Parts: sequence; structure tokens; C-alpha cells
Amino acid sequence: GVRRILRQSRPEWPAMAAATLCLVLAVLGQAVMPLLFGRMVDATSDTSGSRDARLRRYSAACAELALVVGVSLFFTAVRAYVFNSAGAKLCIDHGLHAIDATPARRHGGVGAKVVARLRVLLFGRMLAQETAWFDARETGDLLSRLASDTQKLQAAATETVSLALRSAISALVSFALLFLTSWRLACLATAVVPFLIGATFLAMRVVKRLAKESQAALARAGAVAQEGLANQRVVRSFGAEGFEVGRYAHAVGDPDAAERPAKDSSLALGLRQAGVQAAFITTTAALGYASVLGVWYYGGLLVVRGQMTTGDLVAFVMLLLTITASLSVLAQTGASVVEAVGASVEIFAVIDREPAIPNDWSSKSDADRATELRLARGDAAGCAFEDVVFSYASRPDLRVLDGLTLRIPAKSRAAQDCALVGPSGGGKTTLLHLLERFYDVGSGRILFDGVDIRAVEPTVLRTKMALVAQQPALFSGSIRDNIAYASRARGLRTDDAAVEAAAKAAHAYDFATAFPDGFETAVGERGVRLSGGQTQRVAIARALLAAPRLLLFDEATSALDAESEALVQDAIDKLCVGRTSISVAHRLSTVVNADLIALVQGGRVIGSGTHDALLQDCAEYSNLVRRQLRAADSSASLA
Ligand code: ADP
Ligand code: MG
Repeated sequence: GVRRILRQSRPEWPAMAAATLCLVLAVLGQAVMPLLFGRMVDATSDTSGSRDARLRRYSAACAELALVVGVSLFFTAVRAYVFNSAGAKLCIDHGLHAIDATPARRHGGVGAKVVARLRVLLFGRMLAQETAWFDARETGDLLSRLASDTQKLQAAATETVSLALRSAISALVSFALLFLTSWRLACLATAVVPFLIGATFLAMRVVKRLAKESQAALARAGAVAQEGLANQRVVRSFGAEGFEVGRYAHAVGDPDAAERPAKDSSLALGLRQAGVQAAFITTTAALGYASVLGVWYYGGLLVVRGQMTTGDLVAFVMLLLTITASLSVLAQTGASVVEAVGASVEIFAVIDREPAIPNDWSSKSDADRATELRLARGDAAGCAFEDVVFSYASRPDLRVLDGLTLRIPAKSRAAQDCALVGPSGGGKTTLLHLLERFYDVGSGRILFDGVDIRAVEPTVLRTKMALVAQQPALFSGSIRDNIAYASRARGLRTDDAAVEAAAKAAHAYDFATAFPDGFETAVGERGVRLSGGQTQRVAIARALLAAPRLLLFDEATSALDAESEALVQDAIDKLCVGRTSISVAHRLSTVVNADLIALVQGGRVIGSGTHDALLQDCAEYSNLVRRQLRAADSSASLA
């Protein structure tokens, strides 16, 4: 993980190298300061020579110290400027957790760039995954991956690494100076080191596990919140605000609740992590104090016996304090690095995952290219389902399509408009999704223009078709942007006339121009809310403008009243001249003129043909027609 993160930050390496050099120089300066303090002490206690000579010795020692302090400060300043981080200092002053709240960390600086780059990469890799992967995940979970896990990596990628480096260098240099100053005292002082290492090792292991768990807990809480906020209307209409807050509180861990927070809530895990960290910090501090006290005692004896000067003892103790402080920073930053490594495992699992259905192929053979060219020609496309068996991964034992066979010839032959009818849950939507290759068939095959769809790069295949989903989603932006979505995604310019023509065909023109801003009216989360029927019509215009060879409508007019449905259906019929269309019918009345009607039930086509042929041959179809007629009659008699 860490190597990957470093590679992510490659463009920042020159800056990081410069910063690191400054850091090493500054730390070296700081490390020798205790020795200079010791000299000052010795200069004051050395009573030999004249008063002037003593003063000169003392001033010289002071000047040396001032020089080293100045140089060290200079390099610190340069480093801080290059690194543009207040976070590193805060990390020493307040411990690890203060960093996350530092605004400086979120704006500016090397780390922010690394995180931004990582986020974009991760988002791209998420969108590259196959649909089944999304089926198994919650959006809130993915969002928290993008937002907070990447943030954790920032620590490991930049400031924390430099901080850990600084502490390590400072500890090492001071350690060498300890032995130079007095090897006897140094041996005594280092007696605590094995204990220190043991404690660090233990704490690291626990923190690593807890960090992983709390990561997962946060993601769970995020998923609950995301659901509640996105479905705010449903929550409201059922008066379920309190209920949802309760669900969220359970996931987060309500600190004010009477009972203890759930064991796997992020609060409980955070508290445990804090406890472990507190215990660890206390242990290291205690060990540090023990060694300092021991050194004062034994060092005092050495001074009294004349085996050591007072200045050396002062220098020694100051070195020891430096080491203790460095080690404790090292341990804390270590914990945050471990945390980041935990987050990085999750992130890189997504980044490295090869989608089961890759949208883009890395290489294409000549045969692949020839196939693509073949698909590029012609207007209407034929397609065929041959003995298709399919189950969703979440319900492997339910055969949603169970040996479905359906042939939809292209325009040049008999039929071009195919209507799918049948009971809800029969597999009609699934059939369209398989054609788009959102999922792969379990067995059997699907042909598009005589080519197995698995033999074509999915992105190419999908440019040949456009789907108007059962519940179409629009993006935030203007109506125009939404209609022109396909060409914008392909980086093309769409002229306004084309957008307006598509809108007219989809009967979206009149309501769009009725808004004060017309086609520039913002829709989506922060814009006007379109009605269900208006949304469907914008989605139809969006599909039409993509100019595909095959149009797929999944109950695309279900939110329209009968009259507008007839209008839009009529427009669709006109537009589909020269194109193949497959429409899942909402009302049978709209399909009677279709060239081919297929009755899908229980994952099979149990009858296909024209309306008249089906009425004659297929008992289920005539039943369906009779039931709908009866429903229409009773609603007519109500009117
Ligand atoms: P229709 O569009 O004809 O109403 P669908 O194709 O939507 O039917 O659904 C067919 C069956 O597949 C239903 O039993 C439904 O519960 C199931 N199903 C649909 N989508 C999924 C999914 N993503 N995961 C698991 N099961 C699904
Ligand atoms: Mg459906």
C-alpha cells in the first residue's frame, strides 16, 4: 500500500525531496542543541581564569547556540513554506487527532494534491466496475471510501511521513550523541528501550485492527445517512424522522443513549481506539520518566565523583528528553500510518479490481475491429436471444430468465418494433439489461446484428443502443445539458436545433419552453423538480439524441396520462422508423400495432407474433388482453 501511495505522489517528489532535505538539516541542528546548552552550563561553572576570560567563554557558548538555533529555524521555515503545512506542527502539539480537523490540511499543500489525484482515480475505477458489483454495495459506503478513506491516506502520503522521518532522525542522532557524552549513563538510559519496543508493537497491532473496524463502522453509518437524506420525502411522509435518526444513532453510537453504544458502532470503536492510544502514550511517558529519573540520580553520582561535568549531565538529560519526545511522536504517527495503510487496502482493492465485464478493452484484434465496423453500418439492428438462462448474483438459485428465446429481425426483414408484455417480475427489464451487457448471461447467447455481444467492446456496443429506464434519472444541470448528455459525454458539441428537435419529438418542447429559463432551466437536486412524466420525456429526448440503432424503452411512458402516452408513443413510433426498438409496454393499447409482440412470463417467451396472431394462438395473451379490457371498462364506467 505505502509504495503505491508514494507512487501516487510522484509529481510532488521534487518538492518533497527539498522539504525533506530542509527537515534533516533542521533536525540535525535541533539535535546538537543540548550539547551547546551543556557547554553554557560548564562555562558558568568553570571558575578558572579571569572574569573577562570567563565572560568570553560564556558569550562564545551563547553565540554558538544562537547560531545553531538560527540556522535550524531557517530550515524549518523553508520546509514549512515548501510543504505548506501547519498540520505537522499541530501533530506534535496536540497529537494525532488534531490533524484531521486542521483546515490547512484540506486546502493547499502536497497532500491535498495527492488526495485529489487518488479520488479521481478511485472514482474512475468505481465507475468501471460491472453492475453486479454495484448491486452488492451501498452508495453511502462507496461515498465514504471516496471522501474519508482517501483523506486518511493523505496523512501517510505526506506530512506524517515527514514527521515520522524527522522524529526518527532526531532520535537516532540524539542516541549517538548520548553515547558520546557518557556511555555509562547511556547504557542505563537505554535499559527501557526493549520495553518501549514491546509496548509499541502491541499497541500497533490493536490499533490496526480497531482502525479497520471503525473504518467499516463509519461506512455503515454513512450508508444509513445517505439513504435517509436521499429518500427524505419517503421518510417525511411516514413521519419516520425520529426512526431514521435512531437508526443513524445506532450506527454511529449515540453518546447520550442510556444503554452502552453498540459494540460495532463507530463511537464504541473510536472510544476503544482512544483508550488504547491513551494507555500507550501513558506507558511510553512513564518509561521515559523512569529513565530520566534514573539518569538524574546516577548522573548526579558521577558528577559528585568527578567522572562527569554538570554541563554534560544537563546535555545528557536534554538529549534523553528529545529522544523520548521523538519516540512518542514516532509512535503516534506510526499509528496514523497504520490507519492509512488499513484505508489503503480498501482503496486499492477497488482500484486494482478487474471488472468482470470491462467497459473498455485494452487491446483489440483485427477481427474485433472488423466486427465493430460491421456494427457501424446500417440503421436498424436485429437482435436475438438464444436459450438465455440468467440469475442475479444476489439470488443465484432464482432463474430470472429460464431458457428465453426471442428473435427480433432487423428492419430489412419483417419487423422492427418489438413490444414486450407480461406480468411484473417476468424478466422484461432484465432482458433489456442483458442486451446492454450490464450483466452477462449464465448460458445461451445474445446476438446483435448476428454478433455475440460478448465479442464487441461494451462501450462500442452501448453506443449502438439507448435505454430509457423505468425510472429515468436526470443529472443536475439544465434541461439542455440533460438532453445532450450522450454527446457531451463523448466530448462532442450539440447544436441547439438538434436538442430542440429531440425535445419536440419526445413532447418535451412545450413544457420546457414554458419555464422562464426555457431549456436552460436547471433540473436535478438543486433545480426545479420535474414531474415523473416530464422526466420521462426528457429522458426519451436524451435517448433519441444519442441517435442509436436500437432504442430500448422500459415502460418509458408509464408516468404519463393516457392522452400524453398516446402522443409520446406516436412520436416514438415515428422516430423508430428506420430503427429497431424494443419497448416494454405499460398499456396493451399502445402495442397493438407493433410488428412483433412477445409475451414474457416466468423468464421465458411464451408467445410471440402480431397482436392478431397472438389473440388466435396464445391463450395467455388473450387472457391478458381481456383482463386489461375489463379494467379499462370499469374505469370507463366510473367516469
Ligand atoms: P419485469 O421488468 O418483467 O417486471 P424484472 O426483470 O425487473 O421484471 O425482474 C425479474 C426478477 O428478477 C424479479 O423476480 C426481480 O425480483 C428480480 N430482480 C430484478 N433485479 C434484480 C437484482 N438487481 N438483483 C436480484 N434480483 C433482481
Ligand atoms: Mg421492469
